[in-house]
Amino acid sequence: MKMRIAKLTAVGKIELGEGPLPKIKKETDILVKVKAVGICGTDVHIFQSGRADVKLPRVMGHELSGIVTETGKGVTKLKKGDRVVLDPVFACGKCPVCKKGHKNVCADVKCFGVQMDGGFQDYIVAGEDSLYKIAKNVSFEQAALAEPFSIAANINARVGTGPGDLMVIIGSGTIGLVTLQVAKMLGAKVLISDVEDAKLEAAKKCGADKTVNSKEKDLAKAVEAFAPGGADIVLDAVGVSPLTELSFSFAAPTGRIGIIGFDAKPVSIPPVNITKKELTIVGSRMNNHRFPAVVKWFKEDKLNIDLLISRRYPVEEIQKAFEETIANVKNNIKTLILF
Ligand SMILES: [Zn+2]
Ligand SMILES: [Zn+2]
Repeated sequence: MKMRIAKLTAVGKIELGEGPLPKIKKETDILVKVKAVGICGTDVHIFQSGRADVKLPRVMGHELSGIVTETGKGVTKLKKGDRVVLDPVFACGKCPVCKKGHKNVCADVKCFGVQMDGGFQDYIVAGEDSLYKIAKNVSFEQAALAEPFSIAANINARVGTGPGDLMVIIGSGTIGLVTLQVAKMLGAKVLISDVEDAKLEAAKKCGADKTVNSKEKDLAKAVEAFAPGGADIVLDAVGVSPLTELSFSFAAPTGRIGIIGFDAKPVSIPPVNITKKELTIVGSRMNNHRFPAVVKWFKEDKLNIDLLISRRYPVEEIQKAFEETIANVKNNIKTLILF
């Protein structure tokens, strides 16, 4: 039996070919028929410019849902027919960092579909510890967004979002919007900014208390009006040094700053600004065991997932899906590839 496999063969080019189905190797392995896969900003970035740690050809895709079609002998938690999502974070499991329970920051951490082949194919094999059952009321399309929401869950846990917190999120891209939704669910009040009105409209629908187009309005003034004296939590959801630097100025005394960017350019902050306000600065990378919480939120219908799905394409049109996602960057939130 053959399956369809979509491989990035060169920058800007995804080719749909055929190949054999992956095989179950370990007793705890599970064969999953892929149903829906989200295109992440990471996938778009690799498609457009490649990445040093991504060897081509590469099957991308790490935001996926599917159905269990075969289980290894040692599998106990899932069975054939179960509908599942994949936690794409894979680590060594042996180092002191992993043993302390922080696999997402293991020196050998890999993301499914980035440093290893991923989900843009009919079938994948993964261990049962990486797969989570989704409830009947959650569609495969919705479930493909469990991974971005796991990132939001991780960020909000790291900055300690709670009831009454005044939070500022810079950037209304997918990560900004999912973080906003989780923060609202946890009881925070949120101001979110962007330079695109279409994204701010989506943010309003996601429950933002205040939206600011920072191209048209003074963001610092808007933050001061929203949170006099500064915000409890500030997150640069764009992840670039200048905005990270800006986020420090928006924090209240004892405020928490979330850092999620991969920008290698330095941020220049006088230490005194941190000392005087006793700021807490936390990083957040991918997710660390957040899927159990996310699938529960999905089951309990606590989030507006459908709002985030902008485009859908069958896998045959994956090249077009990437091109149209890039062409519509100003208003596109999440594009899904369907199988
Ligand atoms: Zn992603
Ligand atoms: Zn490790």
